[in-house]
Amino acid sequence: MSYPYPDTRLLIDNQWQDAADGRTLPVLNPATGQAIGQVAHASVADLDRALAAAQRGFEVWRATSSVERQRVMRQAAALLRERADAIATLMTMEQGKPLAEARAEALGCANMIEWFADEGRRVYGRIVPGANLASTQMVLKQPVGVVAAFTPWNFPLNQVSRKIGPALATGCAFLCKAPEETPASPAAFLQCFVDAGVPPGVVGLVYGDPAQISDHLIASPIVRLVTFTGSTAVGKQLAAKAGAHMKKVVMELGGHAPVIVAEDADVALAVKAVAAAKYRNAGQVCIAPTRFLVHSALAQEFERAYVAFSEGIQVGNGLEAGSKMGPLANERRVQAMQRIVADVQAKGGEIVTGGQRLGQAGNFFAPTLVRNPAPDALLFNEEPFGPIAGLRTFERLEDAIAEANRLPYGLAAYAFTRSFKNVQMLGDQVQAGMLWVNQPATPTAEVPFGGIKDSGLGTEGGYEALEEHLISKAVVVTGV
Ligand code: NAD
Repeated sequence: MSYPYPDTRLLIDNQWQDAADGRTLPVLNPATGQAIGQVAHASVADLDRALAAAQRGFEVWRATSSVERQRVMRQAAALLRERADAIATLMTMEQGKPLAEARAEALGCANMIEWFADEGRRVYGRIVPGANLASTQMVLKQPVGVVAAFTPWNFPLNQVSRKIGPALATGCAFLCKAPEETPASPAAFLQCFVDAGVPPGVVGLVYGDPAQISDHLIASPIVRLVTFTGSTAVGKQLAAKAGAHMKKVVMELGGHAPVIVAEDADVALAVKAVAAAKYRNAGQVCIAPTRFLVHSALAQEFERAYVAFSEGIQVGNGLEAGSKMGPLANERRVQAMQRIVADVQAKGGEIVTGGQRLGQAGNFFAPTLVRNPAPDALLFNEEPFGPIAGLRTFERLEDAIAEANRLPYGLAAYAFTRSFKNVQMLGDQVQAGMLWVNQPATPTAEVPFGGIKDSGLGTEGGYEALEEHLISKAVVVTGV
């Protein structure tokens, strides 16, 4: 069955526009390898027009009441809900994930936008007592300005919603470079804001050469905050550029999530939670569980159940009913999987299931588990970003925590245990921005979402996400 797939243009001043020089890039369907459409490639002149529009949009939006901002954002969320099926189809065509996952992502974004819309009503500021009783010390919370956002292809909507939510809720304007590989679904998402009545310039969308766009936007005095989701290597480059221009940053970067299964864990629960999380979006998830650290007494039972789950997954085109895992989003990821598998085998790890590309066309890769990867194997050191994980055993919880903390990453972590003492130790000692215990990840809007160490700076959830978009201004007044 074929579905129509639109070409994507640039959004400037609430108008969809071709690039000034007419340049475009092709968009491929990762399930077939076929070109399905194209996306406009912005020139520097387009970027300058988008920046100027964002500056004008900011002046209007910062002067708009939080009640009105909430109304517009809630209306955008309602439109997104209405359009979720159509947007999900675009996402599956360009990104590959099964339709059910794409639809859940769109609906989750609607929830996220509503939460931020409401939280924007609770940006309070403070009155601080001072030594001089005649003066009043106020702390005002004001929007930082125009936000330049760079979002990746793995969650074409979700990553935008985590950035546009706090930006718009605090009165900032939002100029986004979304992924050239998956352009149509984020465009349809931003159309919801336009249709909801957001003033021109408050929301902008560009595509093109990522490095050229980030260089240009970060250097522009119009941009005051740079928010990026993607690899640690690129994040460090962008944060350095932002630092050179004295801009605030939010960096949501790579992870390598450990899963600690303690001796007293419920193994069935652990496998159910971890396996589903591993294969969601074909493992192309920054919080995907990747290093399984299982107490030796439970390792066989864990491995058996995990392999059964892995081998029961139907891998196929995300548009087809029954597909539980789609293709990898691009050919680069398949090559990365092959490199990781070859490396882990060369260093003595055993492939228990999977390990190879599937099919003749498209970027399909088998759900894969490796037993005993060497500690220096790529699999246990670099973010795999695919449907592969490794299992090592431990005897003492302290050793599992040491392994969890060994890498420079510190994004998500998972643990399974029935003991409160273990939970306290894990909560205290595991170096991660998020730790989920006895459950899968639940990265809700209302709690912080972000990493420590090389996994990033700042957060994209909870009230703290709004704080990233605010400046705190002291205004001290003495009555006369
Ligand atoms: P990449 O590192 O080149 O790109 C990652 C993302 O950054 C893409 O969206 C890309 O468009 C963007 N990007 C790259 N260079 C940029 C620049 N100079 N300025 C602005 N944006 C730029 O490579 P990739 O093959 O797309 O992904 C490789 C790795 O990135 C993955 O293996 C994974 O580790 C990581 N990644 C992480 C996330 C996440 O959710 N944290 C998302 C996508 C990719």
